[in-house]
Amino acid sequence: MARRAMKTHKPKKAAKYVYFFANGKADGNRNMKDLLGGKGSGLAEMTNAGLPVPPGFTISTEVCTIYYKEKTKIPPGIDREIDEHVKKLEKAAGAALGSTDNPLLVSVRSGAKFSMPGMMDTILNLGLNDKAVEGLKSRTENGRFAYDSYRRFIQMFGNVVLEIPKDAFEHELDAIKKSRGAKVDTDLDEFALRELVERYKGVVKRKAGRDFPQNPIDQLKMARDAVFRSWMNPRAQEYRRIYDIPDYIGTAVNVQMMVFGNTGNRSGTGVGFTRNPATGRKEFFGEFLINAQGEDVVAGIRTPQPIAELQQVMPKAYKQLRDITTRLERHYKDVQDFEFTIQDERLFMLQTRSGKRTGHAAVVIATDLVSEKLITPKEAVLLIDPGSLGQLLTPGFDAEEWTKIPVATKGLPASPGAASGQVVFTAEHAVEWSQQGKQVILVRRETVPDDIHGMFVAQGILTATGGMTSHAAVVGRQMGKPSIVGAGALEIDEGKRQFRLGSQVVKEGDYISFDGLTGEVKLARAKSKPSEILQVLDGTLEAWESDIYKRFDKVLTWADKFRRLGIRANADLPDQAAIAYAFGARGIGLCRTEHMFFGEGRIPIVQRMILADNEADRRKALDELLPLQREDFYGVFKAMKGSPVTIRTIDPPLHEFLPKREELMVEIARLEMDGKDHPELVEKRRLLQRVEQLHEFNPMLGHRGVRLGITYPEITEMQTRAIIEAACQLNREGLKVVPEIMIPLVGSVKELKDQRVVVDRVAADTMKAHGMTIKYLVGTMIELPRGAMTADQIAQEAEFFSFGTNDLTQLTFGFSRDDVGKFLKVYQDRKILEKDPFVSIDVEGVGAIVRIGVERGRSTRKDLKIGVCGEHGGDPASIHFFNSVGMDYVSASPYRVAVARLAAAQAALQTRVGD
Ligand code: PEP
Ligand code: MG
Repeated sequence: MARRAMKTHKPKKAAKYVYFFANGKADGNRNMKDLLGGKGSGLAEMTNAGLPVPPGFTISTEVCTIYYKEKTKIPPGIDREIDEHVKKLEKAAGAALGSTDNPLLVSVRSGAKFSMPGMMDTILNLGLNDKAVEGLKSRTENGRFAYDSYRRFIQMFGNVVLEIPKDAFEHELDAIKKSRGAKVDTDLDEFALRELVERYKGVVKRKAGRDFPQNPIDQLKMARDAVFRSWMNPRAQEYRRIYDIPDYIGTAVNVQMMVFGNTGNRSGTGVGFTRNPATGRKEFFGEFLINAQGEDVVAGIRTPQPIAELQQVMPKAYKQLRDITTRLERHYKDVQDFEFTIQDERLFMLQTRSGKRTGHAAVVIATDLVSEKLITPKEAVLLIDPGSLGQLLTPGFDAEEWTKIPVATKGLPASPGAASGQVVFTAEHAVEWSQQGKQVILVRRETVPDDIHGMFVAQGILTATGGMTSHAAVVGRQMGKPSIVGAGALEIDEGKRQFRLGSQVVKEGDYISFDGLTGEVKLARAKSKPSEILQVLDGTLEAWESDIYKRFDKVLTWADKFRRLGIRANADLPDQAAIAYAFGARGIGLCRTEHMFFGEGRIPIVQRMILADNEADRRKALDELLPLQREDFYGVFKAMKGSPVTIRTIDPPLHEFLPKREELMVEIARLEMDGKDHPELVEKRRLLQRVEQLHEFNPMLGHRGVRLGITYPEITEMQTRAIIEAACQLNREGLKVVPEIMIPLVGSVKELKDQRVVVDRVAADTMKAHGMTIKYLVGTMIELPRGAMTADQIAQEAEFFSFGTNDLTQLTFGFSRDDVGKFLKVYQDRKILEKDPFVSIDVEGVGAIVRIGVERGRSTRKDLKIGVCGEHGGDPASIHFFNSVGMDYVSASPYRVAVARLAAAQAALQTRVGD
C-alpha cells in the first residue's frame, strides 16, 4: 500500500465505515465514489431512486486503507459494525445467514472508485454450508440448484480466498462428468453435484490443510479480506499503472443479497450498455444468458445471446430493463453500463456505472447527448477522456486491398481499428516479441485479467470465446485496441502454439489481420490507411463527407471556448507545422533547428562545418547552410499563418552529426586491408580524429545548447540571420511574423546575455540590409535546475521562457533520458516511482522547480510569456499542472494537439475525467 495512505489515515471518533442500502433507502449516494467505490455508490443511488436492487451494505474504501495499515487486520470496532449490518441485512432480506429453512446468501464484490474490470476478486453464494444448502433446497424446491450453488461457492471461495488453483477443482468436475457420462455441467443431476461437493471439500482439505469453513460469518470475513488483498494483486497493480490510478485509494467491498439467474429457464443474467460502446451509436446494447450466474457472462466462458432476444424470451422484464436503464442514463447524463439478474421473471439491478467506451464512441456519444439536450457543451467536453482521442487517428485498412483478401472467419466486433501482425498465444510472448520490435496479435481462447500486459503491447486482440462485454472486449475498448471476441471457429491449441481454422493451420509468428469494426479476420498481412480525420486534415477527404470528423471538430471547438492555455506544437519542418495548424495548434512552441541539418544533402555541409579547424572554413560551411535554413524557417512561418513561432538555436553536441566512432574504425580497417590506395581514406581518418576529439563521456551534460553558441558564435549568427531574413521576406509579402528566438540549456543569465548580444547585433544588421524593421523576441529554455532557481535574473534578459521538461526531468532526477529504461520498470514495480516521470510530470519534484521558475521569472517581468515544450506538453495530467501554475501555453507534438486542446479545457474547468 502506498505510504501516503498510511500517513493520512487518522482513526476518527464515531467514524462510519459501513453503508447500508435496502428497500428504497440508502446511507450513501452517487457523490460518494471515493468512499463507496463506483459500484457501492451506484447501488446506493439506484436504491434511493426506488429501483429493484437487492439489499446489502458497502464496507468503505477507508477500511481497505486500515486493513493495510494494520498489517492486514481489521480492528474489532469495524468488525462489530459489519456484524450489525449483517443483522440489518438479514432483517431486510427476511432470511438469515446459515439458516436451515430460509438461508441468506450474499455476494461479496470489490468496487474501487474507478472501475477495474475483472482485476479484483468476487465471491458469490456466500453463506452456504452443509446445513444451509438443505435450507436452500427446501426453499426453492430445487435440489439440483442448491447443490450447484454450493459447489460453485466452494470452488470460488477455495480459489479466491484459500488460493487453491482452479485446476484442482476442474479436475474433480471433469472426473465426475466422465463417470456420469455427462457432456456439459448442466447434465449433472443433484446426486452428482452432492458428490462433487464432497470431492471439492476434499480438495480444500488437501490443498489448504483445513476444513471448508462452515460458519457464514467466518466465510464473510475471510472473503472480505480476500477482496482487500486482491487490491494489491499483480494484475490490479498493472492495470492501475496503465490507467494512472493511484494505489492509495483502495477498494470498497459490497455485500449484497444474492438473487439467482440460474434457477431455471425463467431466470437469467446479463450486462449491457445504454449505447453502443464501440461505435457510440444510440442502440440498446448488451447480452444475456438464460439460467446462468453473473460471472458466466463477463468471464467469457459461454458466448451469450444479444440482449434484443430477451424481448422475445421475457418481454415484461425486458421492457422494465429498458425503462430503468433509460432513466438511469438521463439521471447520470451519461451512457450507463449495467448488470442485471432476472430471478423467476423478476428483474433486479446489480450495478450501474458510466460505461467505458472507445475514443470514437466517446466523441459520438458526447455530441449526441448535446443534440438530445441531455447535456451542455461544457459537460460534453468533460465527458471525453483526452487520451482516447488518439484512437481516432489510428489507421484503418485500405478498403480496396482489404476486400481482395478472403475472410477467414468472423467474430464479434468488440473494439474498432485495423490490426495486422504476427500471431502470439500468450501475453508473455506478446511482450517479448514486441520488445524485439515485432507487431503482434494476441490470440487467446479467452483473455483473463492476467493478460493485461500482453494486451497492452499487442496490435490487436482476438479471442475464440466471449461476448461483447467479456473481459477482452471491455479492456480492449478501453485501451482503444482493435479487438474481436467470440470468433468461435478458431480451434486454439496453445500447447502446439497454433490455431486451426477449418483445414488451415496458423502457427505462432504467422501474419493475420482483422478489422475490429466489422469482426472480419483474414489470414494475411494487410496494409492500412490513415484515419478519416487525418484524411480530412491532409485534404484527401472533404470535411462534410466524414461524420466523425465533424463531431471531432465540434468537440474541440467547444473545448477551445473553455480553455485558458494556448496550444502550440513542436514542429521542425513546414509539413509538420501544417499538420499541427490543421489540428488546431496556433503557434510553434519548439522548432528544433538541428533537425533541419539532417535534411537531404545537408549532412556533408554540417560535417564540413564541424570539421573546420578555423573560423573562416566554418563560416564557409555555414554560408552554405544559411539559405537552406532560411527556406525552412520561411516554410514554417508560412504554415503557421502568422501565429507565433519559437525557433531554438542549435542544441545537441556536434558529434551527433558525425558518424559513429566504431563504424568509422571498421570502414577504415576494411579500406586499409586490401592494400589499395583509396582516396577517401584520408578524409575518413580525419573524420575519425575529429570524432575522437569531440568524444564526451557524458554528452547530455557536455558541449551542447548555449555552450555551443558561446564557443562558436558564428552558428548563432547564421541561424539568427536565417530567421530574420525569412521573417523579413514574409513581412514584405504581407504576412506579419514575430519570430521568437530561443536559446537552449541556459543556467546563468550571463550565458543568455552573451548570446543575446550576438542575436541583437545580427538581427539589426540583417534588418538594415533588408531595409526594414521587424519585431522579434529573444527568450530561453528553462531546462536546468539552476535556470529555474535564478529565473528572476534570467528574466532580465529573456522576453519569454519555455520549460524544457525533458531535460529538466533528466537533470532533477539525475536519470539519463536515454538509459532510464534499464531500471524504470523495476522502480515502478517496487512503487519507488508511480509513473514514468518523462511521460507525466513529477509534480512534487520537477513540478516544484517549474513553479519556482515561473514565480521567479514573473517577479522580474510581470508579463513574461511562459510555456512548456517538453514531451509533457501533450500529456493530460501534466497539462492540468501547467495550467495550475499559470503558464500561457503548452506545446505538444502535432498528433497530440487535439488531446492537448481537450485536456486544457478540462484543466480550465478544473475537473478531470473520472473525478
Ligand atoms: C526539453 O528538454 O524538454 C526539450 C524540449 O528539449 P530537447 O528535448 O530537445 O532536449
Ligand atoms: Mg532540452
